[in-house]
Amino acid sequence: MADAVGELVACHEYDRLHWQAELPPGGRADCSKCGAVLYRDIPDSLNRALALYLSALLLFIIANSFPFLALEFGGRVESNLLISGGWALYEMGMGELGLLVFLTSIAFPLLTVLGMLYLLISLRYGERPPGMGPVWRLVNGLMPWSLLGGVPARHPGCGDQAAGSGKLHSWRGAVRIRSLHVYVRRGAGEF
Ligand SMILES: [Zn+2]
Repeated sequence: MADAVGELVACHEYDRLHWQAELPPGGRADCSKCGAVLYRDIPDSLNRALALYLSALLLFIIANSFPFLALEFGGRVESNLLISGGWALYEMGMGELGLLVFLTSIAFPLLTVLGMLYLLISLRYGERPPGMGPVWRLVNGLMPWSLLGGVPARHPGCGDQAAGSGKLHSWRGAVRIRSLHVYVRRGAGEF
């Protein structure tokens, strides 16, 4: 932000123009008309966001490599990966719903994390990445449609539940997804 001191910045809400000033560490500048945040100083924000998104990528790989749900029925245990849900719906003749599950639980979260890593790694090393604007808009556009943006704090499967005469084990998978959600949200807050 120090490079932009003395330049004009417009409020995103009302387009009111302000001269940029140097902020103290952790400081923030608000619009004088509506109070919307204009810019902030987050100490070491690139390194912290990068660490959080790298952790999110590792969690994404782990979340997709181990069973998300396990159904114990008469001593037999059926395990499912995260990707299995979309495929099962497709095989049941609900292809559109299966595609939606695949996009929101696999494709959009992965694109969000990879897009942010592309931006953060380039910026961390002082480079302006090609396509920075479109990638940023894509990440912001996908975030609300991604499972990462909507996993509730108390997932209904956070625990072992009786399901008919069987038993549903899903807490480990839910914890992994919940951790992934927390890392991505914290990473977005640092950037
Ligand atoms: Zn404003």
